[in-house]
Amino acid sequence: MTTKYLFFTGGVVSSVGKGVTAAALGLLLKERGFKVTVQKLDPYINVDPGTMSPYQHGEVYVLDDGAETDLDLGHYERFIDNRLTRVSNFTTGQVYAETIAKERRGDFLGGTIQVIPHITNEIKRRIGLAAKETSAEIMILEVGGTVGDIESQPFLEALRQLRNEVGRENCLFVHVTWLPTIGATGEIKTKPTQHSVAALRSIGISPNLIIARADQEIDQSLCDKIALFCDVDKDSVIPMKTADVLYEVPLLLENMGVGELVVNKLGLKAVRQPDMKPWKKLVEHVRKPKPSVKVALVGKYVELQDAYMSVREALKHAALANDVEVEISWVHSADLEKEKGWDIVKEADAVLVPGGFGSRGIEGKVLAARYAREKKVPYLGLCLGMQVMCIDFARNVLGLEEANSSEFDRGTKYPIIDLMIDQRSITDMGGTMRLGLYPCLLQPGTKAAAAYGVPEVEERHRHRFEFNNAFRADFEKHNMVFSGLSPDGRLVEIVELADHPYMMGSQFHPEFLSRPMNPHPLFVGLLKAAKERAGK
Ligand code: GLN
Repeated sequence: MTTKYLFFTGGVVSSVGKGVTAAALGLLLKERGFKVTVQKLDPYINVDPGTMSPYQHGEVYVLDDGAETDLDLGHYERFIDNRLTRVSNFTTGQVYAETIAKERRGDFLGGTIQVIPHITNEIKRRIGLAAKETSAEIMILEVGGTVGDIESQPFLEALRQLRNEVGRENCLFVHVTWLPTIGATGEIKTKPTQHSVAALRSIGISPNLIIARADQEIDQSLCDKIALFCDVDKDSVIPMKTADVLYEVPLLLENMGVGELVVNKLGLKAVRQPDMKPWKKLVEHVRKPKPSVKVALVGKYVELQDAYMSVREALKHAALANDVEVEISWVHSADLEKEKGWDIVKEADAVLVPGGFGSRGIEGKVLAARYAREKKVPYLGLCLGMQVMCIDFARNVLGLEEANSSEFDRGTKYPIIDLMIDQRSITDMGGTMRLGLYPCLLQPGTKAAAAYGVPEVEERHRHRFEFNNAFRADFEKHNMVFSGLSPDGRLVEIVELADHPYMMGSQFHPEFLSRPMNPHPLFVGLLKAAKERAGK
């Protein structure tokens, strides 16, 4: 079987939805019966996004095998609904680290190590590895950043070489670009796109398909102009106006015939016709007017909402399941410490505290958990959000005033959240946490067990600290229920309050496994409780 390749490059500016477009096209191909996989090539020099600030990079998306990856992998998994692995994302940092390690071992026998062919070979090796490991019929590769960036050049050169090695007939270059509008006249401009395609062609790549993005309706005459100037077929310039509903993107592409166009251009024959009815229904449901519930999301990176991408999506999925609209209000936890932002929290029908690291804003999160507990407002704590829920409980219910996590107070008398024994000697920051999928046994009779409806689940983790078992008995005596435990019973995975409508915290990140067609039970439970509280 020959693997067919679909290469996605970006033009003009980043953040125009290249990842979403790639994911949506992946869905259309999967729907036609092909085995599809996706790989994201990130040109930055960091080894992975695990150590990058969410302010700069957005959310770190965690896979089953514990790989800490780019948030675009979240789009891929949510649209295509497959489970990706470590090979699905790599960076310049990884490529260089591997090549330099080989050089140190003497693998190159004294040769001079150069971008071409050594770096490009390593890039191609990693692409080949993903193709082989996933035995995909169609592999979608997205190159991060924009054509013209210094960093992305070796990647584009590697793709050009790969095209010659696997044959042009097995490759398709899709260029996703942005058409800016001139404010005064409202005129849409194609010139930046022409320049970015020229840049692509200067390194030997001519795009086969151009997806032209804009916030406005794009006239056919503009597409024709792009086709002429950029030397692509007229039917291969696809106008894509910004969609107000994310999950409509696959439908829009399908309606414009892009799925079929790509299959034909790759010389393939669809195994079956795509069934887009579930997606149509989903989008109709999103558009249908519904009563809304308010969720206060109390976090640290609220200025950049991409930092909580999967949390936001999981809330939307769960809202649909409850037939409500979710209005997310973003609250900076540090504000709550300064008596600010409380009006938003008080108006909310539910409080959500997501994951996070470091002590800034921690006390605000503890206050938010306390408020939810005392006022019986539905609460969901994700990882750090579960930990602050326990800190509040220890301080204000058990009376252990100085209770804390040893992450924030090393010398605390009551380290109710503490380092796992095997984490104590670790000094490296990258990739050294408890990462990836772990099993969790649900304790019968609990809200968590009822929400999931199964006795055992597997969830994705990303943390260093755990609930300290020395305090378990005391917590239980005061109505905190440990409703999810590791199979050996040693690790607390889910906590919930018995005498509260819905106060739930998970040590794992349920948001990574929520899908539009398959919303996550813990989020569904939160919004159900929120809906009840709002009386809707
Ligand atoms: N900082 C906490 C820990 O390492 C929580 C991590 C998280 O929320 N992802 O345990």
